[in-house]
Amino acid sequence: MSQSSRKYLIAGNWKMNKTSEEAKELAAEVVAEVGQQTSVSVVVCPPFTALETVASQIANSNVHLGAQNLYPAPSGAFTGEVSPEMLRSLFAGFVILGHSERREYFGETDAFVNKKVIASLEANLRPILCVGESLEQRESGETTAVVSEQLEGGLADVAADSADQVVIAYEPIWAIGTGKTATPEMAQETHAAIRAVLIELFGASTAEKIRILYGGSMKPGNAPDLLAQPDIDGGLIGGASLKARDFAGIVEAAAAQDS
Ligand code: PEP
Repeated sequence: MSQSSRKYLIAGNWKMNKTSEEAKELAAEVVAEVGQQTSVSVVVCPPFTALETVASQIANSNVHLGAQNLYPAPSGAFTGEVSPEMLRSLFAGFVILGHSERREYFGETDAFVNKKVIASLEANLRPILCVGESLEQRESGETTAVVSEQLEGGLADVAADSADQVVIAYEPIWAIGTGKTATPEMAQETHAAIRAVLIELFGASTAEKIRILYGGSMKPGNAPDLLAQPDIDGGLIGGASLKARDFAGIVEAAAAQDS
């Protein structure tokens, strides 16, 4: 990365798509496209049901595995839930937490997301903590206040010495799956505000190490301008991560920033 020592991270959020068999195929295509490059950290986050097959497909490549959620307890009577340790045992290294779809459809609060962040760090899983504002909040000038509250709530009690394991994803809700992207300048402004909150929480040297991804209709075409911004350290990719060539195009755009 030209502006700092942070290595770009491009993560694919496959959401509730792909059977195990389909996921195996997509993972193989991703490995064929970007599995050997080392300049960008690449993560794929399939549904729970495909973690195992994707783990074997990406073994011996530079593609890493992530999950889309966890439950913040080691084991027990939590029907339908999956623990951090279960994810680790399938070689997941990352987990998406607090995605706006989970906040909206499953009522996840900052306090609950915080429990998940703490549990993931304790299990050596790197949380990708999602924050972002709605269109109404942006239009009424509340963007910085909203993301600051989500960060302070979601990162409460995270120790400064483990904070550099955290990844933040700024995802304006109005840009997710809509084809509308924040302009690079709009995104940079919020990423800089996020960095300022991280400095307050953890100090400047730790905050400088934390990667802040942009998410919201990122595609190979708009990725170069977004990734050129000084505080945009990668992308959390939904729709475009379901096509290996599009996903690879975004990884290549990140790699090209360094050259
Ligand atoms: C997402 O939901 O994390 C996302 C960024 O989706 P999309 O790329 O489809 O907007």
